[in-house]
Parts: sequence; structure tokens; C-alpha cells
Amino acid sequence: MIDPHTIAAVMTDLGEPPYRARQVYEALARGLAVDFEGMTSLPASLRRALAERLRPLSLEDMETLVAPRGSARKTLFATLDGHPVEAVLMTYAKRATVCVSTQVGCAVGCAFCASGRLGLRRDLTAEEMVDQVLHFARSLRDAGRRVTNVVFMGMGEPFHNYDETLRACRLLNDESGFNLAARSISVSTVGVVPGIDRLAEEPLQLNLAVSLHAATDELRDRLVPLNRTYRLDEVFAACARYVRRTHRKVLFEYVVLRGVNDTDEQAQMLAARVRPPHYHLNLIAYNETGGDGEFARPRADQLAALHARLEAAGVSCTVRRSPGAEIEAACGQLALREVETDPQP
Ligand code: SAH
Ligand code: SF4
Repeated sequence: MIDPHTIAAVMTDLGEPPYRARQVYEALARGLAVDFEGMTSLPASLRRALAERLRPLSLEDMETLVAPRGSARKTLFATLDGHPVEAVLMTYAKRATVCVSTQVGCAVGCAFCASGRLGLRRDLTAEEMVDQVLHFARSLRDAGRRVTNVVFMGMGEPFHNYDETLRACRLLNDESGFNLAARSISVSTVGVVPGIDRLAEEPLQLNLAVSLHAATDELRDRLVPLNRTYRLDEVFAACARYVRRTHRKVLFEYVVLRGVNDTDEQAQMLAARVRPPHYHLNLIAYNETGGDGEFARPRADQLAALHARLEAAGVSCTVRRSPGAEIEAACGQLALREVETDPQP
């Protein structure tokens, strides 16, 4: 993907009329073009001039893993400067959701997350985020389908890379480009309070998801190091401001770690905090990431019991289907493996 402003600037440089810039941008964002060669409505000399100055693809795809039943696929990309990036496509009967990475690694370092173990290598650009989506849009197009939803829930903390994440959302949403409805785009944060406040002021009506994982500061301090900066009360106060300002719901994500955050105490505190109608809870069974075995995935009956307990306490709550578990679709895992086998530091 190339930002339309960049295309326009290059066209001006080349002395081309503005409609040429629109043509190229539409070929990329709507036509899903991967090079200028195929843009046969442009003169050959212009195609060559563009190819010398611009690169339509910011990522190279390296490897794709497909889940046994084919409902999820995960692609490992490399940035042009050689960093691993991953994205996941989950297909359902009517939906096709792409899970996008916003950073290479993550600085937050949650105890159970493989991305955190990488540390932060660098922020991704909006183009690199959009290219993850366009990659899957191309493979879906071959099957007569399209991307219906995008979730910023891959590697990285979107609000630690706020400007580029929002630029990616605007590019995806652009009516003259990819044209994905804002209500079909979700951004997931681990609870960066200033980011939640900024999102509330955006004209773009995106969905907000907040990763909770614990309902007391004592436990959350252990699981999510950023909780020492933004305490639970502050995160919930920011969510309340967000709801007041936008009249939109907040989705809370809760990765269930067996025997750690599925206790009666946590369930009770959780039920006190996550109240309908504006708050919804999504339980996610922990994917064992091949780390040191510190955490365990809950059994299906344990997950169902927690779900039932929370619903009985009045929480609007669902259990996330995770078609990606077999192919290590939890955030950061594939790229982590790549880095661990990489002899260069
Ligand atoms: N940094 C943001 C977005 C990326 S993480 C955030 O934390 O919200 C996206 C989701 O994947 C988070 O809810 C995260 O907790 C979850 N996740 C991370 N590691 C996981 C694992 N091993 N199993 C299941 N979910 C995991
Ligand atoms: Fe970063 Fe999110 Fe992983 Fe925590 S769960 S380390 S915030 S990517």
C-alpha cells in the first residue's frame, strides 16, 4: 500500500495530472494491485517511472500456516528491513476477519504473551499494517470473498503506536480506497489510558477492546506490567469517559489462565466491574505458547463453569471461538519462533 498523499506528491513531481494519482491509488487499494506493471491504463513510461520511485508492497510474505480445518491461516511476513511480522485470517460462514500486528514485538511484556518476550523491535507503519489486510484480501478474492472485519490484536500495543494505527484505520476506511466500514474495525489495547481518551475524540467510530486478564490490581500487576502505570480504576474511568463521549460499547478481553485468574474471587470482582449494557466480556482460553510452562490452558468444562458463573452474576459474556489455536495464532508466536532460531541478535 502507498498512502494517497505520497502518490500525489510523486505524480506532481513527474508533472502528471491529479487524476493519475487517483487511478494508481484505486488500483492498489481497490484493485489490490501488487505492482505497476499490471496497471495497463497507465502509459508504459509512467509505469516505469513509478516503479523506480515507489514500492507497492511494504511486506514480503515468507510462510503461511493453515489450520487443519482450514478456518484460520497465519502468514509470517518480513518487513523490507528484515523484521518478522505476522497476521492471521479467520474465516467463518459470513465473516472473514484479519488480525493485524501494529509493532514488531511489544514493550509491555505481559507474563503470558509471546510478543512481550520479543521486546519491542520497532513500530510498524500504517502501510505495513494495511498490507497485512490486503494480502488476505487477495487470497479471499480468489475464493470470491472479501475481508469483512479487521482487528488490531496481533503483535504489539496499538496505543504505543497510536498515530500509525489510526492512519491505517483511516486508510482501510477510505471510501475511495479499501472502503471498510469503521464499525468493522476494532482496536485492542492493554489499557493505555491516554490512548483510550484520544480514541474517544476521533471522528472515526472504531470499536474499542480492552485486555483485562485480572480484576484486582494485585493480580493484574503480575500479569500486565503496564498495570503499575495505569491502575484498574483509571482504566475503567477512561472506559466510562469513552462510553459517555461515544455512546459505544467496550469489549473486555480476558485470557483465562487455569487456576490463576479463573478463581471465585476474580469472577466476583470481574462481575462488579464489567457491567452491562455498555461493557461486554470475551473469555479467551490461553494458548500455550511453548514458554516455560508457567501458565496452563483451562479445560473446556472449567471455561464453561467460569462463563456460567459470570453470566449468573449478570455479566454479558461470551467465550471466543479460537480457530487459530492449532496454528499458533495467539499473538506473537510464529514470529517469536523465527527470531529464536535466528543466529543474529
Ligand atoms: N497489545 C494489545 C493487542 C495485542 S494482544 C492487547 O494486549 O490488547 C491481543 C490479545 O491476544 C490480547 O487480549 C492478549 O492478551 C491475547 N493473547 C496474548 N497471548 C495470548 C496467548 N498465549 N493465548 C491467548 N491469548 C493471548
Ligand atoms: Fe503486548 Fe498485548 Fe502481548 Fe501484552 S498482550 S505483551 S500488550 S501484545
